[in-house]
Amino acid sequence: MTMKWALLSDIHSNLTALQRVLSEIEQYRVDGIVCLGDIVGYGAHPDECVAEVQRCATLCVRGNHDAGALGEINIDYFSGRARQAIIWTQDKLSPASRAYLAECPLRETHENLLLVHGSPRDPIWEYILDRQTAYINFQESEAQLCLFGHSHIPSLFSWSGSEVGGLRAVGDQTQRLEAGERYLINPGSVGQPRDGDPRASFGLLTLDENGGQIEWHRVTYDIERTRQEIRQAGLPSELGDRLLSGV
Ligand code: ZN
Repeated sequence: MTMKWALLSDIHSNLTALQRVLSEIEQYRVDGIVCLGDIVGYGAHPDECVAEVQRCATLCVRGNHDAGALGEINIDYFSGRARQAIIWTQDKLSPASRAYLAECPLRETHENLLLVHGSPRDPIWEYILDRQTAYINFQESEAQLCLFGHSHIPSLFSWSGSEVGGLRAVGDQTQRLEAGERYLINPGSVGQPRDGDPRASFGLLTLDENGGQIEWHRVTYDIERTRQEIRQAGLPSELGDRLLSGV
């Protein structure tokens, strides 16, 4: 049986990017949508983004910005602008959004999938950006496929049993997944890409008895609109400006 999942991560209250990605996903007839956390933080539409994820996601985990907005973690660990946005978000979030975010676990398993925001070792804070960190995290869990976010970098690490491989996806890219290997996969960020490509990023994961494949997709959206909404909301304007360059 073949299963097809759409993978979303790091939406960061960017409703325009999220809606654009969701409409793009419609044509692929996926079996489910996975959200890897950080629905909120940075952007001007936290409630709307939470509602969209709640409506469409089959599985969702909580990220560091979500936990910060719920008041669950010490926000002194966030950088100045991120902290300002979290305080703004804490003030804006509706009880319904808070209830949904609080229900999302830090780790979720589904068949051979493990979902976390940061890493299996530390789902809140750890970034998996290099093979060394990937190696440690392959030891941390038995899952064949671990889906993660947090770094905002579309990427993949593989574990053959003796060696860690690494790949950063550039633009639209497809990578075959071997049945006997294990993988850590990041679909990139919907709402705040940081790999120098300002287009919204999402993943399409196809699984079958022979392994499967991961596709990274990039789509353009109305960045200027998101940028203006951030400014009009009274959030730091740099949070909108950085969307233009995608870093
Ligand atoms: Zn994030």
